[in-house]
Amino acid sequence: MTIFEKIINGDIPSTKIYEDDSVIAILDIAPRAKGHTLVISKKVYPAIGDAPVELLSHMMEIVKKVDMKMRDALKADGTNVIINNSPASGQEVPHLHIHVIPRFNGDGISFFPPATSYADGEAKEYGDKLRI
Ligand code: AMP
Repeated sequence: MTIFEKIINGDIPSTKIYEDDSVIAILDIAPRAKGHTLVISKKVYPAIGDAPVELLSHMMEIVKKVDMKMRDALKADGTNVIINNSPASGQEVPHLHIHVIPRFNGDGISFFPPATSYADGEAKEYGDKLRI
């Protein structure tokens, strides 16, 4: 059982800011910025590819509400919306969730890996591999 299932079942306390039939949103226990929120699917799907698109769409609807609330209540200037998708990406809890982290102009936080570059012809190669 994942730690989020224990939270959903009420076995572990959390600071809940939203709940409906399929989703809860709670404050992250180790916030990367105060107000850092996790929008969590109630049903366990380890990764995006496992989850129905209707659920993903609904989770983004709640992310939008959280983002707007952060701008209003915390006067956030922006947010980072992040999904760590499978352990290779740094995902610690194998239970689909979306991080929403409030950001402020000049706060100096960086979540993105450093930029890299393509060798000649490599962008076309990757484009050809990834075209959907
Ligand atoms: P991830 O690395 O994307 O799987 O993120 C998991 C997140 O869950 C981390 O940011 C943790 O701080 C957070 N977390 C772990 N345990 C709890 C908990 N009991 N309550 C709230 N957040 C938690």
